[in-house]
Amino acid sequence: MLEISDLRAGYGRMAVLHGLDLTAMPGRPTVVMGANGVGKTTLCRAITGLIPVWSGGIRLDGHDITCLSPAQRVRRGIALVPEGRQVFPDMTVRDNLRLGAYLRGEPGPSDLEQVEALFPILADRRRQTAGLLSGGEQQMLALARALMSRPRLLILDEPSQGLAPKAVAQVAEAVQRISESGVAILLVEQNMTLAETVGEWAVVLQGGRAEVEGPASTVLKSGAVEASYLGH
Ligand code: ATP
Repeated sequence: MLEISDLRAGYGRMAVLHGLDLTAMPGRPTVVMGANGVGKTTLCRAITGLIPVWSGGIRLDGHDITCLSPAQRVRRGIALVPEGRQVFPDMTVRDNLRLGAYLRGEPGPSDLEQVEALFPILADRRRQTAGLLSGGEQQMLALARALMSRPRLLILDEPSQGLAPKAVAQVAEAVQRISESGVAILLVEQNMTLAETVGEWAVVLQGGRAEVEGPASTVLKSGAVEASYLGH
């Protein structure tokens, strides 16, 4: 379980997150919504250790991870599917997957088998270079690569970006299956369909804080997301 309390972080002297509280737990995928530039990606970076936290705390399964390096956080079970997917286009699908297990050491055959069973398209294409995959397939690869580190918490930063509706539906189905396998999900998303399909709990960021939160079925219909875009 991820517990964030009173988190402050930003860039240079500019604060982006001003005392944010948030939790994510297995069996209750959390979706984070909010306007462009509100700090969703900054939140992902702070949780994964890519930017330092100014104050406040991040705990994973009861352990304080606020000051750990990104690599230590991966070993503790945090995996990020970054904005824009960032697969290695000139490497094969298999080698992209192997990289996902890098911090744990060489992946065992069972790791590859498990993620390829979850994403059969990646097994079919294992020798192809990743750059030849469609946008939706590359997103599946980015998801599968993150799973190779055997995470307990999977953070997805706008996985629907640039995808056709059919590919978004495939991403939703994959994330639901991952959630059902016991992995806690934190989904940063502006696509309402994906948010509604995957989210059980919803958090709307505004002014660097979790302005509204509650069951996704209530929050996503409350107008809070639209209000955050209008800044009131
Ligand atoms: P989007 O939905 O457009 O991706 P976001 O909610 O993810 O937006 P962030 O990318 O977290 O927002 O950006 C929050 C604020 O921090 C913005 O004002 C942005 O310009 C600023 N920012 C983001 N990255 C940096 C950086 N590396 N250096 C300085 N400022 C940054």
